[in-house]
Amino acid sequence: MNSSRKFDNQAYKKRVDHEGGAHRAGMKLAEPASCPKCGSIYTEGRWVSPKFARESGKHMHWRPSNSVVCQACKQIENHIVGGYLTMNGGFLARHHDEIINLIENEAIRAVEDNPLSRIMERIETVDELLVETTTEHMAQRLGHALNRAFAGKVTYDFSHENKVARVNWHRD
Ligand SMILES: [Zn+2]
Repeated sequence: MNSSRKFDNQAYKKRVDHEGGAHRAGMKLAEPASCPKCGSIYTEGRWVSPKFARESGKHMHWRPSNSVVCQACKQIENHIVGGYLTMNGGFLARHHDEIINLIENEAIRAVEDNPLSRIMERIETVDELLVETTTEHMAQRLGHALNRAFAGKVTYDFSHENKVARVNWHRD
């Protein structure tokens, strides 16, 4: 059964256009800046994780003085979701913890690549697991990771109207 019921949800309509993709739209910030909420650092035109900034060694000698809340923290605060990943099917019930572990590990790697790619919420119902992400790419990435690890079937849908990705992973 391929029902679209679960996406007929008011939450999708909450996303407002001007928020979508602001971090990609060439928005210029004074550099370097840091996010007071998550500690991500804005330098050379992009946000990087504090870990990356430390390891690259380039930024050992300054403390970012410009404090700017990053896009991901703004989205989390206002609950502006960029991607929805739903997981369902009998395999989920049998391998629940493995699936959660995979998702969490993938999320840690994703944040190292791009600190604005994050899991916002995890919502569990009896037969479904829903993860909300800050970016459409993150939902897609998690869907692919599940598919790589456990096979199953991934479907991907992008709403241009709301700029929201809906990814579903299913395995019976
Ligand atoms: Zn932040």
